Amino acid sequence: MTLHAPYDPDNIFAKILRGDIPAVKVWEDDDVLAFMDVFPQSEGHVLVIAKGSTARNLLEIEPEVLARIMAATQRTARAVQKALEPEGFQILQFNGEAGGQTVFHLHFHIVPRWADRAMKGHGHAPMADMTALKVLADKIAAQLEPAR
Ligand code: AMP
Repeated sequence: MTLHAPYDPDNIFAKILRGDIPAVKVWEDDDVLAFMDVFPQSEGHVLVIAKGSTARNLLEIEPEVLARIMAATQRTARAVQKALEPEGFQILQFNGEAGGQTVFHLHFHIVPRWADRAMKGHGHAPMADMTALKVLADKIAAQLEPAR
């Protein structure tokens, strides 16, 4: 998939936003949704997406929507840090198939990191247990600060 294809309304995140397929949600508001990655590269891997935009990648996103996603990513990362106390974390964002992107609805990854735990490969991690993901999502959600 190139950087310049049309938005596919049947991509997996569009289906999650429509409620056509389930997701383990951390939190949402009118503009954004944070949910658990089902193939987590580390414990507590969360994805943040915009609800109203059909931007596929960073090149296409409206700046005001990008600002909301970034604020949501920071708010979620703060909660992940409090809930799981990683020693570090990565914010990842991939653009185009050649850039490692596999779902073409713009999203940011929050990947907690611990020095003694290897990170699983992007697109190569095993599927998580849904019950365990829900426990993590609830733990993270419990640490959310009020939106600024
Ligand atoms: P990217 O490769 O940057 O487009 O990231 C897409 C991410 O979506 C990957 O980390 C996948 O593990 C994740 N993913 C794929 N399907 C689902 C799903 N149904 N629910 C949650 N995460 C998913």
